[in-house]
Amino acid sequence: MTSMLQRIPVTELMPNASSRGPWTHTRAGEPRGYVDFQRLKELWIHTGTACNLACPFCLEGSHPGDDRLNAMKLDDLRPYFDEAETLGVEQFSFTGGEPFVIKGFIDILVDASARRPCFVLTNATDPLLRRTHQLLPLKEQPYPIRFRVSLDYPNAARHDRDRGEGSFAKALEGIRWLHDNDFEVSIARQMDPNEDSDTVENAFRHIFRTNGLPANLAFTAFPDFGPPGSEDDTPEITETCMEKYPTAESQAHFMCSYSRMLVKQNGQVRVYACTLVDDDPDYGATTSLRESLETRMMLRHHRCFSCYRFGASCSAP
Ligand code: SF4
Repeated sequence: MTSMLQRIPVTELMPNASSRGPWTHTRAGEPRGYVDFQRLKELWIHTGTACNLACPFCLEGSHPGDDRLNAMKLDDLRPYFDEAETLGVEQFSFTGGEPFVIKGFIDILVDASARRPCFVLTNATDPLLRRTHQLLPLKEQPYPIRFRVSLDYPNAARHDRDRGEGSFAKALEGIRWLHDNDFEVSIARQMDPNEDSDTVENAFRHIFRTNGLPANLAFTAFPDFGPPGSEDDTPEITETCMEKYPTAESQAHFMCSYSRMLVKQNGQVRVYACTLVDDDPDYGATTSLRESLETRMMLRHHRCFSCYRFGASCSAP
């Protein structure tokens, strides 16, 4: 690992670019907490913010036809896949938007799963169900493709209120198709602030059993991250706060210590710190994977507080 690059953060050129203050210091002037990169375990690919659904809580602000983040193409990704392989990457992971609305997504998966195991976040509704005939041959690829499906609550009416009528049943259909065809599948659910997690997950397990699914599907629970550009009143993380995570080992749960995410904006692929911060240009100030790995990530974004407090990670369980 080479020494950290002294890049000039966007917000120090444009001091008002973030309401949370400059890159290196909090609004109160204290040095910020930071995470240094350790190794490239996972390369995430943001396939774009187009989605077939328009959930109001979406942390990406995705909806049909949205282009805040552009649709990724295989030609955009090949050089990054090549470089990631030389850096020892262990997995390629995909998020959106809804990856299956992207025209060339199957071609991307074919290329990626010839190189490394893949992991796809999906709502498992119509865009996936329409492409099952293209997914089946991918079982013969050198590396497996796993899926994580969003199923917000163990309550169809509550899930459908934001995702649209019939979405819960469609997602269950998608989960069942994936399971029946021997693809590994897990669930992303939403976490209520004072929930009883055992009760929530038991309710899910009852639904799985009554829908012909194994009751032991794995879960990842996420707090509400807020839409892009949003702020909240989470505390800022100082260097002193990070004394809670004194060693590289204790910092290893922060995604920015082991992953990066490729995002296409205004026709240009950029390398962001993690899957949670694609709305702050300071976290994606380079187009170079190597340069990004040499950049110290300051914990300025309000979503960094979720990592600090809950150990939130988008990675597979
Ligand atoms: S959101 Fe979490 S993983 Fe991303 S940069 Fe902040 S601390 Fe790191």
